[in-house]
Amino acid sequence: MKIVDIIYRYEARDTSASLRPSHTDAALRRLEDGNKTFAALFESTADQNIVQCIVPVDSRELGLLSSTGEGPKQHPFAVILGCSDARVPIELIFNEGPNDLFVIRVAGNSLGTEVLGSLKYAIDYLSQSLKLIVVLGHSGCKKPCPLCPQEGTSAVH
Ligand SMILES: [Zn+2]
Repeated sequence: MKIVDIIYRYEARDTSASLRPSHTDAALRRLEDGNKTFAALFESTADQNIVQCIVPVDSRELGLLSSTGEGPKQHPFAVILGCSDARVPIELIFNEGPNDLFVIRVAGNSLGTEVLGSLKYAIDYLSQSLKLIVVLGHSGCKKPCPLCPQEGTSAVH
């Protein structure tokens, strides 16, 4: 039986998790690379029973070591509008940690008032760090995303 360990390693020092992409293409590449890293954990290799992935996390991103008692400032590099489906853990599948992504989850990615309000908040207040907005569909969704292609059709996003 194969074992996959995904470890969020909290350290009180600067880590690569704190580095932010400087432009949209770099942000998209980081998400794609993170997803490839996640998917590779589950690719079968006969001689490897235990696979580990360490996601470095600066504990200051959670406000754990704040000397002022204040929480950290938000500075996600991407907004992800994803489905509420419990089988799609968004930070996990992109190999990201706290404060990297501003995640909005709703069944089927429906664009209701609350979702639009969250998107507006991110754009209005997090624009210094944001480089990308992603609408994330997934296979097997029981509530089809209005922006995603349906079976037997194609669409450009
Ligand atoms: Zn879904």
